[in-house]
Amino acid sequence: MNLKLKNLSNDNLISDLKDIVCRERELLTKLLHYLKEVEQRRLYAQKGYDSLFSFIKALDLALERLDPENKPSNSRRKPSQPKMKPTLTPAPECKAKRYIPQKIKRQIWRRDKGKCQFKDKRTGQLCHSQYKLELDHAWPYSLGGSNTVQNLRLHCRTHNQYRASLIFKSSHLLQ
Ligand SMILES: [Zn+2]
Repeated sequence: MNLKLKNLSNDNLISDLKDIVCRERELLTKLLHYLKEVEQRRLYAQKGYDSLFSFIKALDLALERLDPENKPSNSRRKPSQPKMKPTLTPAPECKAKRYIPQKIKRQIWRRDKGKCQFKDKRTGQLCHSQYKLELDHAWPYSLGGSNTVQNLRLHCRTHNQYRASLIFKSSHLLQ
């Protein structure tokens, strides 16, 4: 995206920013309503997923695979990536944002030592499982969380799903 912000006056920059913040809030509310409706109609089941979470996860992966910068032709890409045809077409503006550079992924992997970083609130202990590790956004991506080292950590499949269900429940409370 080429926004040419340098040409904007200070006033225009601020008023545009206000406008964007406002629209982002509207979009977020819309997103939560759509998620709720998909959940209620159980559309994820029709598409062959066992939960709304797996459906959204597949959508996420599809978006990541469709990213032109994330193609296997990229020489640094591992050849062992499983091939899965994306079934959902993303809006063009989503593509760039989905991309998490390999460098960031490696940094997180090193920092988290290849183990799940989920912390049990009662015992204060980290899970440290190595089962199907995935990147988890501390502040959810769908709520504007960024793809930075600070906002990402490794979670095992169980805790990734657990977190997603919490996020989804809290999105219902916003209704
Ligand atoms: Zn875990």
